[in-house]
Amino acid sequence: MFRLLKGFGVTLNYFRKKKITIQYPDEKVVMPERFRGIHRFFPDKCIVCNMCVNICPTDVITLTGKKHPENPKKKIIDTYNIDFQGCILCDLCTEVCPTDAIVMTARYDNLSSYTRSEHFKDIEWLSNNHVYGNYEESGPVPEMGERGERK
Ligand code: SF4
Ligand code: SF4
Repeated sequence: MFRLLKGFGVTLNYFRKKKITIQYPDEKVVMPERFRGIHRFFPDKCIVCNMCVNICPTDVITLTGKKHPENPKKKIIDTYNIDFQGCILCDLCTEVCPTDAIVMTARYDNLSSYTRSEHFKDIEWLSNNHVYGNYEESGPVPEMGERGERK
């Protein structure tokens, strides 16, 4: 009998605690400052150095560049792709990028799809992967910097 009452006591205690369940997708979790979410790419910043491609442990980044129209010694990015079928969100590509052209955002739920091929994201998708996108329609809008970090 004592154990039964003790069990009820534990259950009743939970009624007093703050609820942590949220009504996803109407409400969305604001991720921690250093969360490693889905990438965003800034084509204007990319110098086509290939460092992100070389360091990627799963070989999921592909890119091509072309000569700068005004300065043939420089290159500008032409195509940039990440195949998220194999990306392990390890952050190495963003760490090694000398110009912050590739960064990780606070997004985590925009890769759902019915086909694997949809996980292949090109330069346009990666450039438009705005960090606020998840929060535009509903829920709180976290105040974030350009790189997705909370201010
Ligand atoms: S996060 Fe890691 S696995 Fe994903 S693209 Fe960057 S280096 Fe490759
Ligand atoms: S994204 Fe960064 S590391 Fe990758 S090629 Fe461009 S400048 Fe170099």
